[in-house]
Amino acid sequence: MAIGDFHLHSTASDGVQRPTWVVERAAANGVRVLALTDHDTTEGLPEAAAAAARLGLRLIPGVEVSTDLGPADVHLLGFGFDPEARELQEFFRWQREGRRTRVEKIVSILREHGMVIETQRVLEIAGEATVGRPHVARALVEKGYVASVKEAFDLWLGNGKPADVNREKLSPEDAIAMVHRHGGVVVIAHPVFIGGEYVETVRQLTAWGADGLETYYKHYGPELVTAHEALAGELGLARSGGSDYHGLGNPDDRDIGDIPFPDERVEEFVRFLEDRCAVPEYGVKR
Ligand code: AMP
Ligand code: ZN
Ligand code: FE
Ligand code: FE
Repeated sequence: MAIGDFHLHSTASDGVQRPTWVVERAAANGVRVLALTDHDTTEGLPEAAAAAARLGLRLIPGVEVSTDLGPADVHLLGFGFDPEARELQEFFRWQREGRRTRVEKIVSILREHGMVIETQRVLEIAGEATVGRPHVARALVEKGYVASVKEAFDLWLGNGKPADVNREKLSPEDAIAMVHRHGGVVVIAHPVFIGGEYVETVRQLTAWGADGLETYYKHYGPELVTAHEALAGELGLARSGGSDYHGLGNPDDRDIGDIPFPDERVEEFVRFLEDRCAVPEYGVKR
């Protein structure tokens, strides 16, 4: 178990458990420093911060943003930015609106394929959260059209599948610049998921100002970890790690903190955040 986990989701987006639960679970697993990185929202941070304060953990402001790079869907993690920055909050609102519109389109495609679910039901499942494909998947499971969330993605919702609908996003370059404007740093999330010649993409993202690489991700084994450590070293990128915990119980999922992130690397990453971020800890502005 690692002492740091910098990629976690909660009910503020498409995770299954509340921010308080996520922080409590992290503490129980021995995590000392963490970032909640919900999709396009910081709404979970105040609740997570209260739990972190109570349990003596450090919470770094975090968010996950999806960006478009040609056909690739590049996910970027922002850390240590000012969560109250108006431009960021307006950007998140715009992205969440795009996500709601996308759900309507996904639902109508699913209907064409004989699967009748209601947009309203998907939004209900999402509740206050940033709505995403996992909420649609849960609605499909509920109606018995698929056996699991994983099957919903494999058959219908996954990238390139019939009901995968695009939505308007920023380019990685613009997203990186925006996070930088508000005192944060940007880590390239789960590099392998970028697909294709992802090493080339990582180089390009670095040229656009990306600050770090998610080197110690979820189920990455020793070979991938070594390759990413070398790539980060070559490009001068900080090395982050995270479980991308959602609580969905997919086969490759790991528990919070159950990642190959050595303690001294966690400490190194925390020092990097302290050096570079305007808000290296929630509520502590510099
Ligand atoms: P969205 O943000 O709506 O585009 O949905 C992306 C989210 O869906 C990711 O953060 C994962 O939580 C989940 N996801 C993506 N691909 C899969 C998959 N193949 N199986 C299960 N969940 C997935
Ligand atoms: Zn997600
Ligand atoms: Fe992601
Ligand atoms: Fe994620």
